[in-house]
Amino acid sequence: MNTPKAGTGTVDLRSDTVTRPTPAMMQAMFAAELGDDVLGDDPTVKRLEARVAELLGMEAALFTPSGTMANQLAIRTVCEPGDEILCHRDSHILHYETGGPAALSGCIVTTLDGGDGLPRGVFGGEGVEQSVRPLDQHDPVTRMVVVENTVNRAGGVPWSLEAFADVASAAASRSLHVHVDGARLWNACIACGYAPSEFLAEADSCSVCFSKGLGAPVGSALAGPTAFIARAKRFRKMFGGSMRQVGLLAAGALFAVDHQLDRLVEDHAHAMRLAAALSAMPGVEVEAPPGGVRTNMVFLRVAGDAGDLCARLETRGVRMIPMGRGRLRAVLHLDVDEADVERAIESIGTELG
Ligand SMILES: *Cc1c(COP(=O)(O)O)cnc(C)c1O
Repeated sequence: MNTPKAGTGTVDLRSDTVTRPTPAMMQAMFAAELGDDVLGDDPTVKRLEARVAELLGMEAALFTPSGTMANQLAIRTVCEPGDEILCHRDSHILHYETGGPAALSGCIVTTLDGGDGLPRGVFGGEGVEQSVRPLDQHDPVTRMVVVENTVNRAGGVPWSLEAFADVASAAASRSLHVHVDGARLWNACIACGYAPSEFLAEADSCSVCFSKGLGAPVGSALAGPTAFIARAKRFRKMFGGSMRQVGLLAAGALFAVDHQLDRLVEDHAHAMRLAAALSAMPGVEVEAPPGGVRTNMVFLRVAGDAGDLCARLETRGVRMIPMGRGRLRAVLHLDVDEADVERAIESIGTELG
C-alpha cells in the first residue's frame, strides 16, 4: 500500500486539510467493522462518537461529513428563525460557511470585536453582555454565542481558559447557548496545555475536525448534551449528512485521535521556525499575535500582491494561499517535515530577495 504524501515534490502549506491518510491509517480503515449508520448499525461510528464525547467531556457526539455541517447543525438545533447569534468578526461561521446561518436557520449574526489587550479573534464577556438584546417584541432573540478555538482568520490564535471563562459566564447569566467551533481545538489544547474537556467545561456544544491537523481524510463531529445531539441528528438527516457504511471514514478519524494528536506539537514547532526565519527577512512582516505564533499557522504581510507571490512560489514547489491583497497564509501539518520547512524558507527568501 502506497499513499504518497500531499503533493509529493511540493511543500503544500495551503491548509492542514491537504494531508493524505498514512498507510497505517488506511489499514485501520480497511479493517473497520461496518454497518448502516442511519439504522444505527455501524459499530465503528459508535466507537468514534463515544470516544469523542468522552474526550470532550460531553454526553454525546455525532459524526458529520464536515465541520461546516457540524457548526450549522448546532445553530439549527438551538435557534429559531429570527434569532441572533453572537460571534467574533473574524469567525468561520460568518466568512466561510456560505451564509449558512441565514440560509439554513434564518438567523442573523452580530459580530463582536476583541477587547483591549485581547489577541485578535478573542472577545470578552463584557462585549457579550452589551450585545444581548432585551426580551422585547421588537428585538430578535439573542440565542447563542460562538467561540472559535483556534481562530483561523486571526492566524491560529488559541483562547486562554480565562478568556473563555469570562465569555461563558456572561453567556450563562443571559441564558445563551455557548457553542465552540473547535475545528482546531486540538491545536489550542497542545499549545496551551489544557485538556479538551477542561476547556469545554462551561460550553454547551462543540464541533471538532478530524480532517485538518489530525490527518484523517474526511469528517468532523458535533458534541453536546444527549437531547441536543438527538435533535441535531434529525437535522443531519434533513441536511443530507446521514451516511450509511461510514465506519470506513470513522475508522480514519479514530486512528487520527489515537495516533496523530500528540504530534501536533511538531507542527507548532515548524510554524515557529518558519515565523522566526521569515521575521528576519526584509519585505515580510509576520503577523504575530501576543506571545508569538503558537499553533500551526503563520500569516504574512508582503508589500506586493500576495497572489503573484503565491504563483511564483508555486513554480518553486511551495504552495501557499493569498488571504487578501498583501496577506498570505502558511499552515503546517503532518505532511510537512523539517526539510520541507527549510525549503519553504529558502524559496520565500529567494522570491523576495
Ligand atoms: C475548517 C474549519 C471549519 C469547517 O470546515 P469544513 O471544511 O467544512 O470541514 C469550521 N471552523 C473553522 C474554524 C475551520 O477552520
